[in-house]
Amino acid sequence: MTAGLHRSHRVAGALVGSAVGDALGAPFEFGPPGAFSARFPVAARGSSTEMCGGGSLGWEPGEFTDDTQMALMVASSLVENSGLSEPDLFARFVAWAEAEPPDIGNQTRAVLRSGLPWDRAAAEHFAESGHAAGNGSLMRTTPAAIWFSRFGTDATVDAARRISSLTHGDPAAGEGCAVFHELVRVALDGGDPLAAVPSSLSLVRDEHRERWATVLAPGWEPSMATESNGAVWPTFGQAVWALRHGRDFAQVLRLVIDLGGDTDTVACVAGGLAGAVYGMGGIPMRWSSVVHGRVPGHGDRVWRLADLQQLSAALDGKPVPSHDPGVIPRIGPVEVLPGIWAGNLDGARYSDEGFAVISLCRLGEPFPHTNHRMAYIADNEHNVDLDVMLADVLDDLAALRAEGHPVLVHCHGGASRTGLVLRGWLVREEGMSVDEATAHIAERWPHLGLWNASFTAALERLAAQRH
Ligand SMILES: [Mg+2]
Repeated sequence: MTAGLHRSHRVAGALVGSAVGDALGAPFEFGPPGAFSARFPVAARGSSTEMCGGGSLGWEPGEFTDDTQMALMVASSLVENSGLSEPDLFARFVAWAEAEPPDIGNQTRAVLRSGLPWDRAAAEHFAESGHAAGNGSLMRTTPAAIWFSRFGTDATVDAARRISSLTHGDPAAGEGCAVFHELVRVALDGGDPLAAVPSSLSLVRDEHRERWATVLAPGWEPSMATESNGAVWPTFGQAVWALRHGRDFAQVLRLVIDLGGDTDTVACVAGGLAGAVYGMGGIPMRWSSVVHGRVPGHGDRVWRLADLQQLSAALDGKPVPSHDPGVIPRIGPVEVLPGIWAGNLDGARYSDEGFAVISLCRLGEPFPHTNHRMAYIADNEHNVDLDVMLADVLDDLAALRAEGHPVLVHCHGGASRTGLVLRGWLVREEGMSVDEATAHIAERWPHLGLWNASFTAALERLAAQRH
């Protein structure tokens, strides 16, 4: 299903997927098994979604926690230093810990506030306390797994261990990161990370190999765990188990969060892996659109979806300038179908804030609208996951419309991607053929653009599914 996905979609999927998992799992941290599905038995696509916020630390809906805060420090340090500088990264961690973030692991806090230098703090803590194989270094390592994936197995595994050892002196924590890096490397190259599990076991120490082989084996179940999922083995085991048993990104995350315990971290790890496999387009837009947060001790900047996408490209060595679409003459909003409005970028940006907006293009600055979804549909041929994305958009459109919101669909020019969704609505909801839907929209929306053959092909598949 995800074969042929463009690498940039996988890279963005890994980074955004990990942040989405973190934010989705946070309200359920330390809760009982099954709490997520008890609250959300089916997909929640209306104006309030599974990104519900709350929990013991009072997270905002979509707000990420220490897992992603630390990951963003890793990412920024790698990009700004063009590689790994352990003293720089450790200094960033220390500044963060001194700002007293609401959520910080006990061991990480003890190491970062010890006052010891970067090359001694974790080792001395481990020598004194012994127990250090927590999941706190695995949870933040997705950016490094992206950065070093370009340089092959040896380089990415070495970096994984070194970054882990800044806070976690136990080599087992570093082994988890090493195997994770290797699986992400395989997935970003378009391979199957589950098939790479057996060979990746050569990356761990002899005395730990059996333990890793057990939790990563196809027959392992979370009920077989011998410790809580605050430890690195069950955290990684649960993430791989969910990837093995989930049929798509959303189900992988549902499976892990339903295990309870350290839900934000396990979902963050699973989300990084699943995002690399299913790509950006596989992440439900109702989740990716609202993910956000700050990094305490590192300014007031609020990181959002567009920032994460841009950062992911830089981590893959292909930095893109921040997007400024400029000023374009406004088109719309116009009610093209009952309850469904269309527009171009600025027509939507300056529309009444009572609209639920579905954006199908890059935006530059975010919109002020309360209900705002962003889909990642590229108007080119790099859309092997187009069916998944179109279904996600149409399902959310239906849910928002059923709640009585006027729904405004737009892209940059309001032509091609907007036309895809409007035509798709008629094909799916009204049973029209693709030609009928196209003629119906063309009559009511003169801006319709039909240049993308992959869009029309997707609509033909959508029509075929009805039968
Ligand atoms: Mg956390």
